[in-house]
Amino acid sequence: MKRRTWLLRVAVVTLIAGPVAIGAYVKSQQDCQQSLLNPFTFAYFRLVSRERVSSTSNIFKLQPAKPDDNRQVYESAWRTGIWSVMFKQPQLQIGRHYTPLPPVDQSEDEMLRFFIRRDPHGEMSRYLNGLSSGSKVEIRGPQIEFEISSDVRDILFIAGGTGIAPALQAAYTLLSRTSDTNKPRMHILWATRRREDCLGGSSNNNQTGAPRSSWLIGFFGTKPSSPAAVILEPPTSGAIVKQIESLQSQYPGQLTVRYFVDEENTFIGKDSILDFTNSESSQGSHHKKLILISGPEGFISYLAGPKVWARGRELQGPLQGVIKELDPKDWSVWKL
Ligand SMILES: Cc1cc2nc3c(=O)[nH]c(=O)nc-3n(C[C@H](O)[C@H](O)[C@H](O)COP(=O)(O)OP(=O)(O)OC[C@H]3O[C@@H](n4cnc5c(N)ncnc54)[C@H](O)[C@@H]3O)c2cc1C
Repeated sequence: MKRRTWLLRVAVVTLIAGPVAIGAYVKSQQDCQQSLLNPFTFAYFRLVSRERVSSTSNIFKLQPAKPDDNRQVYESAWRTGIWSVMFKQPQLQIGRHYTPLPPVDQSEDEMLRFFIRRDPHGEMSRYLNGLSSGSKVEIRGPQIEFEISSDVRDILFIAGGTGIAPALQAAYTLLSRTSDTNKPRMHILWATRRREDCLGGSSNNNQTGAPRSSWLIGFFGTKPSSPAAVILEPPTSGAIVKQIESLQSQYPGQLTVRYFVDEENTFIGKDSILDFTNSESSQGSHHKKLILISGPEGFISYLAGPKVWARGRELQGPLQGVIKELDPKDWSVWKL
């Protein structure tokens, strides 16, 4: 039936416009069906599964709709640093960027996994959460968001919410450069709204002194709720925490993480940043050191000042906020 419709369309095109149009039409059909990830045209992938991480986030697993070999494309992006792909919402013809999580299983090397916030008011979020397994999804990329140059040895990554996805990418790229003579280090400060977002994530991150005001104040105009009961020994780790732990066991001592949970009144403070930037092992190194920040706009502004738009492009804007006050010498700062 499908084949007959296709042949009918070719016949109509033949009559109307001749061989040139046929060539263009067939080419466009081929392009539509391709599953090779590329920055110029949307490639077809299929939704394999949507795994619940918390009430506000899921991990989406996609695989190419056809057995196109995407491994080289992925490998090149993973070697470079932080990257995203654009998803298309075909009914509204809008696109949104999402950050692939590093691979966890070699047998799934054709797949891409995404940690996506569930937002009932978000157009793309609503679309993605309404898809059933096996649905086609159109994506385009990779788009390199930040290149981690080969001279970088220390990264402090400050992540808010799904900003943990680029943090995991940075860890994956940086730590994969480990050798007998090169032991790069990375420290992640991850702030989430609720414990359910980072279930099982343990760190002695209780701040001393009075609780600080949250970055959520101002951004959402709400005060943090009173401290909820702290879960001391959560039954199992969430999917993202598991992936962090897996990287930690693969690179012992090279990746450290502190978890901050808004509903538990633990917030990223100056001391948590200084603990790493002033640590003995970060001192005296002649290699490049980076502070990367990713999360909601309010989170980035609070820590390092807002990004700005000029001449149709998003620019870094001046360094402000908490990090400007700390003025960590020898550290370059980048807002993602
Ligand atoms: C490089 C890059 C990488 C990214 N990676 C990720 C990632 O890995 N995971 C992830 O989850 N996100 C990621 N994002 C964010 C993502 O691209 C989207 O911006 C996000 O998912 C929201 O898109 P949306 O279409 O669902 O929401 P939109 O429709 O664009 O809405 C945006 C905001 O406006 C609010 N809003 C819209 N309409 C209403 C309304 N009527 N009433 C009240 N509020 C409303 C929504 O609640 C939402 O908060 C990334 C962004 C970039 C730039």
